[in-house]
Amino acid sequence: MKWNLQHTYTELPAKLFTLQAPAPVKSPKLELFNESLAEFLGIPVADKVELSELLSGNKIPQGAKPLAQAYAGHQFGNFTILGDGRAILLGEQITPNQELFDVQLKGAGRTPYSRGGDGRATLKSMLREYLISEAMYHLGIASTRALAVVKTGENVQREWENEGAILTRVAKSHIRVGTFEFAYQQLTLVEQKELTTYTIHREYPEIKNSSNPALDLLKAVMEKQASLITDWMRVGFIHGVMNTDNMSIAGETIDYGPCAFMNVYHPKTVFSSIDSTGRYSYSNQPLIAHWNLSRLAIALLSQIHENQEEAVKLAQSTLNEFPEIYQKKWESMMSKKLGLEGELPTDKALIDDLLKIMEQHAADYTNTFLAIQSGDFPEESLFQSDAFQDWYLNWIRRATQNGKSMEEVQEIMGKYNPQYIPRNHKVEEALFQATENHDYTIFNEMLVLLKTPYQFKDGLTAYQVPPKDGDDGYQTFCGT
Ligand code: AMP
Ligand code: MG
Ligand code: MG
Repeated sequence: MKWNLQHTYTELPAKLFTLQAPAPVKSPKLELFNESLAEFLGIPVADKVELSELLSGNKIPQGAKPLAQAYAGHQFGNFTILGDGRAILLGEQITPNQELFDVQLKGAGRTPYSRGGDGRATLKSMLREYLISEAMYHLGIASTRALAVVKTGENVQREWENEGAILTRVAKSHIRVGTFEFAYQQLTLVEQKELTTYTIHREYPEIKNSSNPALDLLKAVMEKQASLITDWMRVGFIHGVMNTDNMSIAGETIDYGPCAFMNVYHPKTVFSSIDSTGRYSYSNQPLIAHWNLSRLAIALLSQIHENQEEAVKLAQSTLNEFPEIYQKKWESMMSKKLGLEGELPTDKALIDDLLKIMEQHAADYTNTFLAIQSGDFPEESLFQSDAFQDWYLNWIRRATQNGKSMEEVQEIMGKYNPQYIPRNHKVEEALFQATENHDYTIFNEMLVLLKTPYQFKDGLTAYQVPPKDGDDGYQTFCGT
């Protein structure tokens, strides 16, 4: 078996990429390899040495045409020209099922878009992305995936010396909102349309005969992003750096730099060290998604209508639908988290009331739903409060109406409420042991556990218990 790469991206306007080989590394060593993903992709599971060479960029797989993609982005609201500063796309792998996936080496050296950066990545942050992106995938949330981590045998200087590593990232595509922003700024209208046609062909073939492709693309991306953010909210995921260059047109979670999971429920939760204003806090995520989509709309304006006033009108009325689209998905998701069937006008209040008392009692987001699901309540202030007791009676009444049994209710809840999420303190413990003591015991245990996150397993309560001190002072970082 051989790799089966194609390079349709290289047929796009030349300004959208630079052909660029990965920079060789000193002594590559395969640290992690995702065999089932390799099989799905149809990537040959060669021996370790061969894989180390291929997935470090020291050896280029047959048929690859490595490149770095150009893009732009609004970072914390400010427009900047960017591009892959430390990632190299090897090509698009055609899977045995004839699906197409980008295979990219992250941390593969400098490119023309590196600006001041070294083009490299630390072992710790690549292990983190591997663990969390795979966890997201198995939680049933659209995400880029991780095929491998290879240590480079070189050190990477951040605040202190780190071991360097390269992650092989797999994505439906790496086209971002920022790719369209770049196109709008740098390409002719004809070239911009080429990108739109390409993207639709690749990600949204159902609209390929549209009479207004750009507008329909905007709608399709809106729909995908509304679903994605709903899924994030469902499990308490905080992306942390929702810049437009980190928003995928295919609707996958991408860029696992400063992300984290919320333990204690609070809408304003932020972990990223650089997000001082809470722009990317838990509850702001849908608002920012809407804002980012409006950047996409602007980038598509000249394609939406030749008369700009008309284009703005069309784009605006489309964008105005986002809050309602999202709200519907969110309410439906929260209802399922509470095992409710059908939709009643009073459901919204039932959901809001619970969230309000969860916030007041600083309750654990994941475990509160699990407790309601099982009816097994730990001795915590939330569950002992009158407000909760009242709420609980209301909930039982609503959930079991029309003769629904508690088992049926629990069955719905079990599909929406994970037993396990990658708790921040456990992730840190796993990464510390792996990078400081070369001990992957916890890391591997978590990786296996998070493959079936909705299934309770005996003896692993350590992965369910929130940290004793909450997440007090926990911080995450970009660009490590
Ligand atoms: P991010 O904050 O991860 O979305 O990255 C924003 C931009 O910085 C992207 O263009 C990255 O390619 C670039 N970048 C991040 N880290 C590095 C690095 N170590 N070397 C070069 N470019 C980087
Ligand atoms: Mg990024
Ligand atoms: Mg990043």
